[in-house]
Formats: sequence, structure tokens, C-alpha cells
Amino acid sequence: MKRFLIVCSMLGLLFGCTKTENKVKEDVNVSTMIDENRKMMLVYPTLNVPLLDEQLTALSEQLNEEFAASEDECEFNMSYRLNHTDDFISLMVKIIRGEKEEIRTFLSNQDGSKSYTFQNVFDEQKIKELAEKIDERLRQKDERAGGTLDYKLALLPKIENFQKFYFDKEVVAFYFDNFNDHKIREAIFSYDELSEFIKLEISKPVYLTYDEILYEPTKIIDPNKPMVALTFDDGPNKYTEQLLDALKEYNCSATFFVLGSMVEKYPIALQRMVLEGHEIGNHTMDHRQLTKLTEKEIIKEVEDTQHAIESIVHIYPTLVRPPYGSKNDTVSRILDYDLILWDLDTRDWASKDTQKIIEVTLNNVRDKDIILMHDIYPTSVQAAIELIPLLQERGYQLVTVSELMMYR
Ligand code: ZN
Repeated sequence: MKRFLIVCSMLGLLFGCTKTENKVKEDVNVSTMIDENRKMMLVYPTLNVPLLDEQLTALSEQLNEEFAASEDECEFNMSYRLNHTDDFISLMVKIIRGEKEEIRTFLSNQDGSKSYTFQNVFDEQKIKELAEKIDERLRQKDERAGGTLDYKLALLPKIENFQKFYFDKEVVAFYFDNFNDHKIREAIFSYDELSEFIKLEISKPVYLTYDEILYEPTKIIDPNKPMVALTFDDGPNKYTEQLLDALKEYNCSATFFVLGSMVEKYPIALQRMVLEGHEIGNHTMDHRQLTKLTEKEIIKEVEDTQHAIESIVHIYPTLVRPPYGSKNDTVSRILDYDLILWDLDTRDWASKDTQKIIEVTLNNVRDKDIILMHDIYPTSVQAAIELIPLLQERGYQLVTVSELMMYR
């Protein structure tokens, strides 16, 4: 408990007592559509910065319409990275429409009133050296990169070629998405590597120290009594802690298959999951359909998430739930984790109806079921809060997926 309080107060120092009032509020929006052939997952923020919020909403609406109009098998995906400090807001949005990948970036002062371009942030006089550095970094990742004409054009030392960049907490990334194959290339640098090129004021990040070993609360599970595992995907989100409160009240456990891109936005929720005896599973970084990715991309989606989780709770999950439950021989072969799907799909994301979710669950639940829900919808969280005592009344013990697997 002491450690939890220290982390809380450090977050207070980070976000609460800043020198100027940071008006940015990050709310996460999720828009999902799934049918047999087509999959869509759009995750984007609302930031209380009107100009940016309007653009993001318009973009999401446009993608929704395009997806609705598309008839072929396809995947649409939107994910983002955001870093807002006392000095600036930096946002990167990645958009996938079938085979086509696109990056949009945005950088502004800390309240979003003044946006910055390459010229505001980097030393224009040194663009040639910067272009060479980026070229070298891109070729390190992909040695064939340099050969094509579109590559050479994209790397010419012209300002318009380097307008897509993102300032993360520890690194700066440049993006290129105008290649003939429509795939994104990224060149990532530490701040130190680019110090001679950057004009922007950047405060060093403050890290949370969290190096004591965590103890799992002791639990008593009766193998002779029925049990189920509630699982919650796509979070954490602002509703997650409410759910954690209910799980605590009824003294039971759940499993959270979290997105790597979400965990650092809700570190307290993640730490509570561990401290209160729940299980954290890996649901990949950006919720891409793994069966559509290369082996390298699959590994990156999973391993980046492992590191994001580990950096907050010092635990590497052993379970992976592939987005949309999509897996094939390649996915199973290269991922050295237990791949967990579900037995009972509440379809909570489709109905968004608390009563319906409760009915579907109670009418179909059987002993040793893994139940699928999403803690990103208030209707799902409310349904779970009501379901917990109802399931217990029917004699079910609510356990984690790993606990369930021991008795299955
Ligand atoms: Zn999911």
C-alpha cells in the first residue's frame, strides 16, 4: 500500500502541481466494427484542444463511412501516441485502411493554440546532415530501403519531406508513408542523438521508481466448486478502476487483456490489477489483426506491449489474446505464450446494453468458462459490476485465466 501511495503522489507531482495549468485532458475514444471478413478498431483521443479534436472526430467519421462502404475483406485500424508536457503537445496518429498505411502528426505549444512545423523545431541549416542521419537509421532497419526512387525522393533534404515527426518521452521519431508499397517507415532517435538539430525546449521526463517485488494476495480456490474467468479486453480505460472497486468489494479476480498503447495512460489501474490479485494479459500494442502481419510485425506488436507493461508493474504477462481472436499457424508458432480466446462472448461491444450483457451471460454460462467483455464501455463495466454478485450467488468462483487453466 505504501508503494501505491508513493506512486500516486509522484503522479501528483508530475501532472498536478505543474507551473502552468495544462488544459489538455486525454479521453480515449474507441470505435469497433467486426464481422466475419472485416475488422475495424479505431482508438483516438479527445484532448480538450478544439482544433485537434474536430480533426480527429472528422477522421474517425470518415473512416467509419469508408469501412461501411467497403465490401471486401479488410482491416481498418487507427491508433495513436501522445506526449503532452508543460512545454508541448506531440501527437502521432497511425491509420490503416486495408493495405494502405498513413501517419499524421501534430505538434503544438502546451495548450494547443500554436502549432509547430519542422522549421519551428529543427535547425533548418542542418537539414542535409539530418537527412543523412535519418537515411542511415532507415537502412539499419531495412538494408534494401535505399534502392528505390521513391525512397531517394522521400529522403531529399527538403523541409516538406520531414514534416511528420513525433516527440515521445524518450525518443524522437520521423515517419515516411509515401512509398509505393504504402507501408510506413520510421526512424527513431534518442534526444541526445539529435541534440544538435533540435531547437525545442524539452524537459527531461521524471521516472517512477518501482523496484520492490510485488506480492500476490493469497487466494483460496476450491477445485470442486464451479468457476469462471471474467476477461476484459482493450483497456485500461477511465472505467477500469470502477470495475476494480467492485472486484475488490466481492473479493474476486479477473483477467485484463490490455493494449500496450493504453497502459501508460492508466498506470494506477495497472498497478491496482497486480496489487489486488488480478491477472494482466497482453492484447498487443495497437490491436492489429495478427494474421495479416509479417512475423517481424507480430513479434513487435507483442514484445512492445510486454515492455510497456513491465515498465509499470515489473511483470511480464504469460498470456496473449490476439485481437479479434484471430490466429493461424504462424501466429501460434512464433508467439511463445499461451494464446487465450474465450468460451462465452457477451458481444458487449455490439449491444452496449447492460441488461442484455447480463442476460446473455447468465443464460449461457457454464463451469470453467472464459467470458469475454471490454472495460472500455461504461455499459460493460456496469454489467460486470451487477454480474459479479449474481454469478457468486449461483456458486461460481471468479478466478483469473491462469487459475482456471490449472483446473481445466
Ligand atoms: Zn480487443
